[in-house]
Amino acid sequence: MRVLRPFDPWKSELCTCGFKLSFNPYTGCAHRCDYCYATYIPRFWEVREKNGLFRNLRRDLEELSGGEVISMSNSSDPYPPIEKEKEITRNCLKLFREYDVKLLVVTKSDLVTRDLDILSEMNAVVCMTITGCDQLERYAPKTEKRIAAFKRVSEIMPAVLRFDPLIPFLNENRLNLIEACDPDHVVTSTLKLRRDSFQRISRALPWLAERLKKLYFDEGEKIGAYWYLNRERRLRMLKIVEDFCSSLGISCAFCREGLDFRAESCDGKHLALKKVNRLGN
Ligand code: SF4
Repeated sequence: MRVLRPFDPWKSELCTCGFKLSFNPYTGCAHRCDYCYATYIPRFWEVREKNGLFRNLRRDLEELSGGEVISMSNSSDPYPPIEKEKEITRNCLKLFREYDVKLLVVTKSDLVTRDLDILSEMNAVVCMTITGCDQLERYAPKTEKRIAAFKRVSEIMPAVLRFDPLIPFLNENRLNLIEACDPDHVVTSTLKLRRDSFQRISRALPWLAERLKKLYFDEGEKIGAYWYLNRERRLRMLKIVEDFCSSLGISCAFCREGLDFRAESCDGKHLALKKVNRLGN
């Protein structure tokens, strides 16, 4: 079974990533974010190991031509709590280093700092999601922990802040998170809703759900399987973040919005194409 697959975010026409490969060392995610987009996958909250992972990964790596960027992970997190003991992601990183892979590590966990010894020797970028919405990310490491981890990462190697999703009335004005992290690049996007994620948000924050209902289901638009805010509202929220980043000299891009941005890539891939080790090793 292939474990490196072309990234295809729910076949979204609004994706601007370009070609990259997607890799999930685990199946399922323990962070259980209420707004998660991947919960159409059966038993998604149960983190499972994959049979024959290392054998399959090595076989897929053998077939690469050398220029591909691998994104780990897009529909799970490579650092669930069991990774502390299992070290599956850590061992995958060793394989990636052996094959000189260009890598984006997408996570909400401070455990990524454990692997800086390996990551700093690679063409790698750590993309940490920090939304400031602990109320909707109850099982993920808290915001303060993530900020501290982010700073540790960025002392050593390129670090991308995923200020994503932007949720109206909740975190759309939390620009201080960008200042606190001082990232190399920011990726942001507005919240997309499915019925199941809306129900979870309604249970966690009923006051918010009441306000989102009108914005999304009355005034918003359905694109593919997701409810979006209307284009004007999205553009307004995203521009505020982009302008703020620009005032700090930080590049900024949008994810699955179908709107133009000025950065070299949306996902921070441009940073993975060059090896940057800030310790000078
Ligand atoms: S970390 Fe990502 S994949 Fe995991 S539950 Fe949260 S949004 Fe979903």
